[in-house]
Amino acid sequence: MYDLLIKNGRVIDPVNGVEGIKDIAIEDRRIVRVEEDIPSFSASEVLDVCGKTVIPGLVDIHTHLSPSTSRYSHRMLALAGVTAALDMSGPIDGVLRLAREEGAGLTVASIEALVPGANIPGLAPDSKDIEKALDEALDKGSLGIKLLAAAYLLEPDSIGNAFRIANKRRAYVAAHCGSSKTNSDIRGFLEAVELAGSNRVHMAHVNSYCRGLIRPDAEETEEAVRALIDHPWLRSESYMSQMNGNSAGCENGIPKTPVTKNCLRLGGYPETQEGLRQAILDGWANINIAAGGQNMLINGPEAVERWLAAGTDTGVSFPVNPPLPRYRLATAKRPDGSFVCDALSTDGGGIPRNVLVSHGLSLIRFGALSWNEYVYKTSTAPAKILGLPDHGSLTAGLLANITVVDPEKQIPVLAVSNGRLIMIGGHVCGAGSRFVTTERGERNVLENGLEPLVIHLEETGFYKGL
Ligand SMILES: [Zn+2]
Repeated sequence: MYDLLIKNGRVIDPVNGVEGIKDIAIEDRRIVRVEEDIPSFSASEVLDVCGKTVIPGLVDIHTHLSPSTSRYSHRMLALAGVTAALDMSGPIDGVLRLAREEGAGLTVASIEALVPGANIPGLAPDSKDIEKALDEALDKGSLGIKLLAAAYLLEPDSIGNAFRIANKRRAYVAAHCGSSKTNSDIRGFLEAVELAGSNRVHMAHVNSYCRGLIRPDAEETEEAVRALIDHPWLRSESYMSQMNGNSAGCENGIPKTPVTKNCLRLGGYPETQEGLRQAILDGWANINIAAGGQNMLINGPEAVERWLAAGTDTGVSFPVNPPLPRYRLATAKRPDGSFVCDALSTDGGGIPRNVLVSHGLSLIRFGALSWNEYVYKTSTAPAKILGLPDHGSLTAGLLANITVVDPEKQIPVLAVSNGRLIMIGGHVCGAGSRFVTTERGERNVLENGLEPLVIHLEETGFYKGL
């Protein structure tokens, strides 16, 4: 008897060249057969997904899973049909705790932001400072480090050193681009490409540097596309939401983070706490609040109250991502036919914009991506970059990681993660987490009560290419 049989769905698995109405049998958490007409009586549980599309579990390679973003991050990902995710900022202690206490059955990993006053001394950390921060992060279970120009514009030398040191250790390194000499914009992105040199770096949310802050957004987008074509060893992802996500925290009447100031400027507001208050009232700024088991965005007078009650320390989102860069970067190809940005991401998780299914399926409907390309960008490629052995395809023998979507409503309807059902019909039923780490972090992951999945980064797509 099989434990679970997913019947009558349209299965799309480009890795195995499968496309058609098939049944998937799962036994001992592993996929054992993908065939037509597997009899219902051969399984102890049967889920009929007639009219739905069955794809390899979604891997979101840019999310936020710290308790300070939202305690519901894991639930929100499961509801979005995601089965594996990379947290892009830490801090690792909180990410581990949330994965244990609020897990929804996903496979998750984390990289640690370099934060002045926390794990680095200031905005110009030297090599020793960066090595120390990286060592601490790896020993706790992180895969590597993240440059976080959304909040901290480091010196260019420090950024270049961080890329070099992470590569020397064969650790993961990702950049929200921008330095003290540039900003979180197209200049910061092009500067980061130069600073990377021949090092492997994950360029985070490429669309976010193409908001038209310096030149028209279409021009900025083509500059980003050209830079990525010319530096094919860089990994990258872009997201599809109109909303960004950042901190609304203010100090002495001024927003603390450079990106929030950029967003106020883009909306024609003063770059002050008063400007932010007016933007929330008008609906240009949206405050991130917890409600109904997930986070949502609100604006208007109640949002201002909530924001002030939290001492301004809430998340904030602005509709600053123009449509053209999002469309272009989701679909752009290199001359050899491969994608310019390796993966579609969301920069979501606890930030409510987990739109891999809703927006991704719009691109398919629009004729901009085929189903095979969609599966590649949302599962196969990100799984390769992270070196996840059981994601990216529906190959017999792998732990079952499966997402089922309703192609008409463009919503996820079912998710199986590591062989267990974690979401069905908008109800989250998964618990716990499998935590992706390196040999150095295995012990701390175990001590945190989590199941470790040890990977060797030098063997992943991050270092070996796709
Ligand atoms: Zn992010």
